[in-house]
Amino acid sequence: MKAEILSIGTELLMGELTDTNGSWIATQLPPLGIQLQGISIVGDDLPALAEAFSRGLQRSDFIFTTGGLGPTQDDLTREAVAAALGETPTVQREVVENLERYFAGRGMTMPAHNIKQAHLIPSAQFVRNRNGTAPGWWVESDGKVIVCMPGPPGEMQPIWHEEVAPRLRELVEDEVTITRNIKTLGMSEAAIDEEISEFFGHENPYLGIYSKADGIHLRIIARAGDEQVAREMITPVEAAITERLGAYIWGYDSDTPEQAAGQALSEFGLTLATMESCSGGFLANSVTDIPDSARYYKGGVIAVNSEMLLASGVPPLVLEKYGLVSPETAMAMAHAARNGMAADYGVAINGVIGPAPIEDQPVGQVYVAIAGRKETRELQFRTPPRRIVIKRRVANTALTELRKLVVLENGD
Ligand code: AMP
Ligand code: MG
Repeated sequence: MKAEILSIGTELLMGELTDTNGSWIATQLPPLGIQLQGISIVGDDLPALAEAFSRGLQRSDFIFTTGGLGPTQDDLTREAVAAALGETPTVQREVVENLERYFAGRGMTMPAHNIKQAHLIPSAQFVRNRNGTAPGWWVESDGKVIVCMPGPPGEMQPIWHEEVAPRLRELVEDEVTITRNIKTLGMSEAAIDEEISEFFGHENPYLGIYSKADGIHLRIIARAGDEQVAREMITPVEAAITERLGAYIWGYDSDTPEQAAGQALSEFGLTLATMESCSGGFLANSVTDIPDSARYYKGGVIAVNSEMLLASGVPPLVLEKYGLVSPETAMAMAHAARNGMAADYGVAINGVIGPAPIEDQPVGQVYVAIAGRKETRELQFRTPPRRIVIKRRVANTALTELRKLVVLENGD
């Protein structure tokens, strides 16, 4: 089943509004086994909209639209569907009454313009909108389906979950789609591509590769008549990826670095303390995003200058000899955190967040150090020189390295 999305509104075309609805709907389609062919942005222009619908009906089974269902003259989605199908909208009395009640409930009388929202064509049914005045449209014509939803994400997303997705599931239930996400860190996209090249370029199972803040993700998508068969299609691809990239894989599906690290610590009943400079608490923030992290997280220090580092237990000699930003200082911070807070693991981050270089080191140069129960780990790399990117990358790397070391030292 093929689909396309029309994001409707001149403000989208002007660049004043970013089309988040299109990408959000896109994320909802793979589990339904619906293949998205494209997302288009169309302005509030009747001929252009009608043409977009006519074109869409020729090449797609489903057209999903958002926007243009409001009461004003530039909201033309309904008119365009009617024009594309050659049908005439008529006013639905009971919807007018609903609208009148909606406004009365807010102590207002319904503006005459809102009558537009009570229009329907013979091929369409209303889709209930609990969060606004504009009902959506579900249109079926010649085996094709058009679903029109209002623009505000707070209205569109509940409509999708409550009304649209269940109906779609009924329509596509003879096919299941299963996805498996494999998350790696430490290997470049190109190196991964080379290592497992023979799995790319197939339609089913499909293998996608995505660069994210927590590394390179691989997504296997398999489509089949039933779940068992779809799983069997994924298994050999996953096995080959695990065999070839195993050391770089830190998680699966919805795993996050902080959750994976926390889970490893919990599993072995171990504790963590952190000390960070350039990441400004991002590491501590990530760790504490996990519910119940207080069971393994003892706490963290943010020390951005020598004075604070000294006060937090970093030896003066280390700072004198190696400076504020160095692998040696990072390691001393990791030990200071571990010892100072009596934790099993101490994780430290330092680096250059900018705007200026420090001690001749460029913005984006970062150091991660881990003091473990038996071993230590030290990592240095350069991230793109943007503050948020530096913080995110270095914290994610520290957490995935921590997980690795915890598993290595304590696993069987
Ligand atoms: P409309 O239904 O076209 O009147 O849109 C109403 C509001 O919904 C807009 O002002 C935006 O705030 C929001 N909206 C419309 N289309 C989109 C979209 N594609 N992505 C995100 N928000 C949108
Ligand atoms: Mg609009």
